[in-house]
Amino acid sequence: KANRKFHPEDTIVDVSGVKIGGGHFAIMAGPCSVETPEQVIATAKAVKEAGATILRGGAFKPRTSPYSFQGMGPEGLELLVMAKKETGLPIVSEVMDPSQLQYFDEVDMLQIGARNMQNFTLLKEVGKLNKPVLLKRGLSATYEEWLMAAEYIMSEGNTQIVLCERGIRTFETKTRNTLDVTAIPMIHELSHLPIIMDPSHAAGMSRMVRPLSLASTGGGADGLMIEVHIDPAKALCDGPQALRPDQFASLTKEVFALRDVL
Ligand code: PEP
Ligand code: MN
Repeated sequence: KANRKFHPEDTIVDVSGVKIGGGHFAIMAGPCSVETPEQVIATAKAVKEAGATILRGGAFKPRTSPYSFQGMGPEGLELLVMAKKETGLPIVSEVMDPSQLQYFDEVDMLQIGARNMQNFTLLKEVGKLNKPVLLKRGLSATYEEWLMAAEYIMSEGNTQIVLCERGIRTFETKTRNTLDVTAIPMIHELSHLPIIMDPSHAAGMSRMVRPLSLASTGGGADGLMIEVHIDPAKALCDGPQALRPDQFASLTKEVFALRDVL
């Protein structure tokens, strides 16, 4: 179902009115984690002003250490929904387990995180829903494994899938991960599903977000996912890779200018 051979037409995913794929480009932005009402609202307003069309924010966080901040849970999703009502931006948030799906009714797009890319039970559950899914690439997943994960979702009926390259594990240790730009043309060749790029989790450092965003945009990505925090130094999660709203605004200007000449 995900194979381009059998479905030559580009899939256009509609996230509550925001289209991705088939020439439609979308920027999702927001904090790694929802932390306070003030933080979410301020970030939502700022990223909307800068041209983002979807608000991201984690409420259930897959942290490496069980002692790190695990996210606000259902209360975090309530804050995201509040920001959606305030700004009109659709929202995307990560679901880690089928038992959490009960809290996602008002969430416009479900994110499957890199660590859950092959959680087949979870993939099948979101496959039964009528809601777009953002499927992140696993830390060491091949294109084939990634597309087969999408296939799990599609096999249950849900074909509204956006793939997200977020950096993979390589021998390099200087960066958090290595952004695989080749994934853009290769996925477009193998599949009709849209692919967006996440330069924030790829490099793990804010100063790399601009060059990687421009490389991704120039390389034909269908969109970007970028972490933005009003005060990165105080962020409870992924602060070092977060852009301040003003940095994000200058980045989107460059991204849109580049899109115009493609
Ligand atoms: C995130 O988007 O905050 C996240 C945890 O992403 P990933 O699954 O790509 O690490
Ligand atoms: Mn993050």
